[in-house]
Amino acid sequence: MNPLASDAKTLGCLTPGPELLRQLMLQPLTSTPLRVCSGGSTSRCAGDGCWTMDLRRHRAVRYDENSAEIEFGTGLTMAELLQVLQAADRSLPIGLSGLTGSGFILTGGMGPLSRSQGLALDCITAIEGIWGSGESFALQKDQTTECGRRWRGLMGASAFLAVVTRLRLRTQRRQPLRVRHGLIDPSQLPELLNIAEGWPETCSLQWNWGDRLEIYAVDCSSEQTTPQTLKELDPILGRDHHAAIQSCTDQLDQPTFGRLASDTTASIPVHSEVLARLGPAMGQEAGPLMQCLSLRMQERPHGGCRISAQQLGGATTRVNRGSTSFIHRDSVWKPWITAAWNPGDRVGRQQSLQWMDQVSSDFSTTCPGVHLAQLHDHLPGHHRELVDAFGEWLPELRQLKSELDPEGRLPPL
Ligand SMILES: Cc1cc2nc3c(=O)[nH]c(=O)nc-3n(C[C@H](O)[C@H](O)[C@H](O)COP(=O)(O)OP(=O)(O)OC[C@H]3O[C@@H](n4cnc5c(N)ncnc54)[C@H](O)[C@@H]3O)c2cc1C
Repeated sequence: MNPLASDAKTLGCLTPGPELLRQLMLQPLTSTPLRVCSGGSTSRCAGDGCWTMDLRRHRAVRYDENSAEIEFGTGLTMAELLQVLQAADRSLPIGLSGLTGSGFILTGGMGPLSRSQGLALDCITAIEGIWGSGESFALQKDQTTECGRRWRGLMGASAFLAVVTRLRLRTQRRQPLRVRHGLIDPSQLPELLNIAEGWPETCSLQWNWGDRLEIYAVDCSSEQTTPQTLKELDPILGRDHHAAIQSCTDQLDQPTFGRLASDTTASIPVHSEVLARLGPAMGQEAGPLMQCLSLRMQERPHGGCRISAQQLGGATTRVNRGSTSFIHRDSVWKPWITAAWNPGDRVGRQQSLQWMDQVSSDFSTTCPGVHLAQLHDHLPGHHRELVDAFGEWLPELRQLKSELDPEGRLPPL
């Protein structure tokens, strides 16, 4: 579980199975909002003075060979889903880690395969759960207009409207990947971003800037030969064996992202918040922006503070802006900023959050959107983030919330 959430002074954790959940959702709450925990990887799956609804008992899973769809309870992690699908040689586009839960899918999470296969959110064909009002729902894609409005709300903004207990997703053929990761000098990053912006959809670039700057390039093309795109990184990465191209049988086999970028060992628990932005191709703006980030990196208040990014585009852009709550369909980059501090260090927390806000503001021109994968309803920037995440759709989303969660049992919108 996220260390900050795990240290929260909660009112308690409820772990109902599917039958009891609805009855519980109809009970008056002594404190709102209710916190919902699927994979438990964010800071807000539990909070001081709140109840947590833990979905870990919702673990039923079934793959249907005829439709090539997988139906599952939202208590499973992405790695567990891929393990089930492996037996049928199928898969889903997950993120850089198998540890995340259904929150990854529901918030519009993306990964190295998103440019060729789309967002996991875009693979959803059916969704079940309980609205904040306590009423159950079961919706399928492409239903009537009224359902369409609710569907759109659930696709990327469900955390504000409902507890989602079951999902059905289209699957894809399982694909091998080639990964090339290594360290570069920060001055090389703008050139690399420009190169990656010209890559085919089968390739994607990720980077993670901590004590050092790690790049992580992935190719999922079906070519048997060594992929040209990854070979083109020779002048930047050099030919030493650390930067060799690694063949992975599938996403479960990917090397750990971010491992090379930091000396910090995982055994020291730090508290952290993460803020993610979204923006189109950077072109010539990459140079000045990276110079500014270089200065920010020299000022970071804690060794765990990082700036990272992943590339989207391709298939993620071929979905209408108005069909889901993930409206930033022109995005090519998702940079995210990690603010870290030692547990109990109030001053350090304040400094790191301030640093995160400064870096976010540095990004705001090139990456004007927000990817709301982590809720910050306890931080002053929450309202601004909602506007940047949902744009012109926010007023309608608020209307939906007033209908479906009238008492505000779920996080505020
Ligand atoms: C190691 C790691 C790697 C990551 N890699 C990527 C990546 O490659 N790409 C990417 O886009 N993101 C990535 N993320 C971000 C992650 O996908 C999001 O933070 C996501 O929201 C986590 O979902 P969760 O279920 O694990 O977490 P949780 O903390 O359980 O849930 C996150 C939020 O979603 C809401 N929520 C979760 N489940 C439900 C539900 N069933 N019904 C209603 N609301 C729900 C909760 O309110 C909660 O606030 C990564 C995070 C970590 C920790």
